[in-house]
Amino acid sequence: MAGRNFLFVPGPTNVPERIQRAMMVSMEDHRSPRFPQLTHTIMAGLREVFRTQAGTPFIFPSSGTGCWEAALTNTLSPGDKVLAARFGQFSHLWIDMCERLGLDVQIVECEWGTGVPLQQYEDILKADTQHQIKAVLVCHNETATGVTSDIAGVREALDEAAHPALLFVDCVSSLGCIDFRFDDWRIDMAVSGSQKGLMLPAGLGILCASPKALAMYPSSKLKRAYFDLPDMIQSNATGYFPYTPALPLMYGLIESLKMISEEGLDNVIARHHYLAEGVRAAVTQGWQLKLCAKEKRWHSDTVSAVMLPEGIAGTEVIARAYQRYNLSLGGGLSKVAGKLFRIGHLGDMNEIHLMAAINGAEMAMLDCGVKVQPGSGAAAAGHYWRTHEAPSGLCAVPKPQGTHSGTSSTNPALAAS
Ligand SMILES: *Cc1c(COP(=O)(O)O)cnc(C)c1O
Repeated sequence: MAGRNFLFVPGPTNVPERIQRAMMVSMEDHRSPRFPQLTHTIMAGLREVFRTQAGTPFIFPSSGTGCWEAALTNTLSPGDKVLAARFGQFSHLWIDMCERLGLDVQIVECEWGTGVPLQQYEDILKADTQHQIKAVLVCHNETATGVTSDIAGVREALDEAAHPALLFVDCVSSLGCIDFRFDDWRIDMAVSGSQKGLMLPAGLGILCASPKALAMYPSSKLKRAYFDLPDMIQSNATGYFPYTPALPLMYGLIESLKMISEEGLDNVIARHHYLAEGVRAAVTQGWQLKLCAKEKRWHSDTVSAVMLPEGIAGTEVIARAYQRYNLSLGGGLSKVAGKLFRIGHLGDMNEIHLMAAINGAEMAMLDCGVKVQPGSGAAAAGHYWRTHEAPSGLCAVPKPQGTHSGTSSTNPALAAS
């Protein structure tokens, strides 16, 4: 097939050539004296992306799902009560895991397309005067519906209720894309993975734990072995791992952290917002279609879920895009299966790359009988991008010194060269 495949599923995302090259390494001895430098560089870089000094980052050879399990099993005991809201496939799957592990989940059912219900969380926490709830779970960016929730608001709800529960956040599709503040929001466990905003292949589960979360270990009675944090802490302290680490991914991660540091984390976040605004203009102003996210405050800067008109099968649009135009769009999952398609706009991305998704999705929709105005998506996105100032990461020629607003790295191994 001629030309490239255009990958717009919201994970795995496009791996920049720079990172691909960094991963082309010969295997080496992971017990060598040289190895700890690699580990320490990664941990320092992850602290910057999580925006934490107090937290301890971990990497596991797993996907993000593994770190959901690590977060739960290292802190909680069978029968412990946890509070969680279900508003999409990923928040659902984490709840499902809690139940399988024998936790007692108080589930708040929410309409898909909405985010974490802050007032309800606060009311439930205030009513729990005996402090039965041991952890509050939130999916920061629900990738199935394109909804971002207010984590600072959840922290406020906990504070308002003066509730001591741990705060666990899934940031798999938000870390390194959408503002995320481990220390400021006093998060206890943050769960992520390598194949979304960090622009790597799948294969690393990434976790960050607060001192308060780590202090739960001695009293926590859930079974764990592979995901045991004290094993990891002990080895990591010397720069090593309790088992064979995923070496190429570690080299890739260093390159990814370097790229984020060079652009500046704040600029990376601004770029995701600017690109997402263009996509949303294409969807709502150009195509006159609706996003799955019900309100502006929930709009995700990493993925847009586009609702299709009644009578149009989302699966057909996605199949047409792939088979005819070599464009991979995300499908609707579970409750929203067939009703929407998703455009992932996270990671290594710019305006013109996104134009491929907008034009390709538009052609596939037209082919499948959706009555959108031809060219309207690109016109609306292009208008947005041309009339708003581009974040510096999108300009091939860097802006002059002084206008750079990024937070540059304090880690010399990652500093811009
Ligand atoms: C992708 C994703 C996951 C699952 O991560 P895996 O790496 O596939 O295990 C969990 N939560 C969210 C929000 C995701 O987007």
